[in-house]
Amino acid sequence: MFGTVLDASPDALLAIAADGSIAMANAAAGRMFGYFSRDLAGRDHRMLLAEGFRGEVEQLFARLLAGPEEHLPPREIYGVRGDGTEFPAEAAGSLMPGSDDGVPAGPLLLLSVRGTSHRQDADADLREAMSLLTATLESTADGILVINSYGSVAGFNDQFLTMWGMPAELFQSGSEERILQLILAQLVDPDAFMARMAELEADPAAESHDILEFKDGRTLERYSRPQRVGDEVVGRVWSFRDVTPRRKAEEQARQAMMDLAAQTEKLRAMAFQDPLTGLANRAVFNDALADALKEPRLKTVDVLLLDLDDFKEVNDILGHQAGDDMLTEVARRLAGCVPTADVVARLGGDEFVVLLTACPDADAIAECIVRCLNVPVTIQGTVLRPSLSLGLASLARDNVGASELLRQADIAMYAAKAAGKNRFLRFHPEMMTALVQRTYMEGGLQLAVARSEISVDFQPIVSHRMGQVVTLEALARWDSDGSRVPPSVFIPLAERTGLINEIGAEVMARGMAELAPWLSRDPSRSLAVNVSGVQLQDPDFAQTVLGLAETKGVAAYQLVLEVTESVFFDADCTLIKQLSTLRDAGARVALDDFGTGYSSLGRLQDLPVDTVKIDKTFVSMVHTGNERLPILSSMINMAHSLGLTVTAEGVETAAQADYLTALECDTLQGYLFSLPQPGRRLDQALQRAEEVLHALKER
Ligand code: C2E
Ligand code: CA
Ligand code: CA
Repeated sequence: MFGTVLDASPDALLAIAADGSIAMANAAAGRMFGYFSRDLAGRDHRMLLAEGFRGEVEQLFARLLAGPEEHLPPREIYGVRGDGTEFPAEAAGSLMPGSDDGVPAGPLLLLSVRGTSHRQDADADLREAMSLLTATLESTADGILVINSYGSVAGFNDQFLTMWGMPAELFQSGSEERILQLILAQLVDPDAFMARMAELEADPAAESHDILEFKDGRTLERYSRPQRVGDEVVGRVWSFRDVTPRRKAEEQARQAMMDLAAQTEKLRAMAFQDPLTGLANRAVFNDALADALKEPRLKTVDVLLLDLDDFKEVNDILGHQAGDDMLTEVARRLAGCVPTADVVARLGGDEFVVLLTACPDADAIAECIVRCLNVPVTIQGTVLRPSLSLGLASLARDNVGASELLRQADIAMYAAKAAGKNRFLRFHPEMMTALVQRTYMEGGLQLAVARSEISVDFQPIVSHRMGQVVTLEALARWDSDGSRVPPSVFIPLAERTGLINEIGAEVMARGMAELAPWLSRDPSRSLAVNVSGVQLQDPDFAQTVLGLAETKGVAAYQLVLEVTESVFFDADCTLIKQLSTLRDAGARVALDDFGTGYSSLGRLQDLPVDTVKIDKTFVSMVHTGNERLPILSSMINMAHSLGLTVTAEGVETAAQADYLTALECDTLQGYLFSLPQPGRRLDQALQRAEEVLHALKER
């Protein structure tokens, strides 16, 4: 009967003796551990316990023996089945008196074991759900607040506190009045907030969604919905989301859209406009020209291409702002000159173009442009006279394309530059030939020195005070295939190609050789040679010149080196050193073509020169000799006050000579005294020059 009761128990029951052996096991124990219950009797109970739990039962036994009255809670253990699998269980025990006849003797431990696998599963699910909820609440960026139906706080997360800047204590204290104050104080529109609260209180089942603007600039989105258990509303969940960054981004995007709209207009204009001058740009010109050429009824199409002369100097000397001012002024004048033009465009840099259609007299317009632009203007405190070279090309019977027309204008423009700048030239097919010839010329120039085609002419420079020729200027001559090429053509070419080094050396050597006897007769006489900036870049230039002078028997102090002020634009150490080496050796430096560049008189004192040569354009301003020309007198006075001597170039008339002499100009040079002459006619040239000088003195 007792055994039947035991076997009916759903819990595994084991009677364990003091030595650990199993005295008895019920049917449930057999099922639980996977043995026949009768097989368990006599075995050690520890075989039923998982490793780590094998001492549990002994401990329990010992505790019970020590204090039989003590109530011990069930122990969590892991059991091991016969097949080796483990399972969680709860074990509780009580003491049981041993049977008198029984072996072993003494009290037994009655161990009741209950499997807890099912319970464990349920626990884990709950724990997981709870932790997930907490984690979600805490990790969400939203602030969450739950208020129950009685109006008290049922829950909130940290974000909620952070968003509203609320100390957790205040919240836990449950002081609703203060919490509300704190909330309202932060809002731009607290009344709207309160109104919404009242609305929702009246309708607990309603959902709401609105925006809260904070005084500190933040924007929060508020979302609220009822909290339900089953069908019953038990409270309200408030969720707050900080949408400030999103709002700001939206605001920025809106602003950007507006800016873009405003800029589109500007961009549209810019696509067709030159930003500096406001004239049309190249694209507009190209389109207009193409359209004009397509139009069969148009009788004339003229392209006027113009380029400022020596614009680089304005930029280099006066700076880029002055350059920009100059371009703007030129654009303004140009647009004013040709109000009837189809297009006035800036092609880039200092290049402009005018398109005329159906214009009765394009030449007159070109002429007018050159004249109108060449009027002085004050830029950055300096008076400048914009000068330009203009090439004109027109649609002819043999219909040319747009690019060909522009090319013709370009060739004519270069021809205008070569012809002395500040002028316009109409395209002529011969200019093409000239262009081709220039290419041939370069090949010819390369062989000129070797073929002895370079010779030297000398032009006297006279001193009124001394009544004689004091200097002879050596001027290069090139006879190519029996015809003479002007220096204005081959010198720039030689400079571009670097041949000027070789040609300059040749001129110097020949000049010294031919003049050595004349120079040796009077130490006050000198030889002037033109030196280009390219030559001064050679670090051995000064030594070469001094060495050459020595071999030719010419004293260094009898040498004058003529340079133009352009060599000083980007003067580097090499150049300054060359000039000072030469000056230290006694040679003099003359500033050629003075007044034609853009540099001011004030710059003179900074330059390492001994003489200035006033350009012939200034001399040619003297016609009758009765005019007042303050520019000439101030140039001469200025140079003198700096201790420089002054030579006037291009003196063609006695009136000019007198005028300059009256201004105390030191020396004179020009056709009036003599043309440049080859060495073999030197005596006549010298004689003629001195005769003219004496005749002047007699007057
Ligand atoms: P430049 O140094 O100013 O030379 C003076 C130019 O003015 C010479 O022209 C000369 O023939 C001309 N001329 C002289 N008197 C008068 C006059 O009364 N009226 C007019 N209208 N012109 C006069 P050229 O010989 O054609 O030389 C032109 C330029 O070529 C020279 O100008 C000089 O810059 C350059 N050049 C000549 N020879 C050399 C040289 O050996 N080396 C370098 N680097 N340049 C040279
Ligand atoms: Ca010269
Ligand atoms: Ca000159």
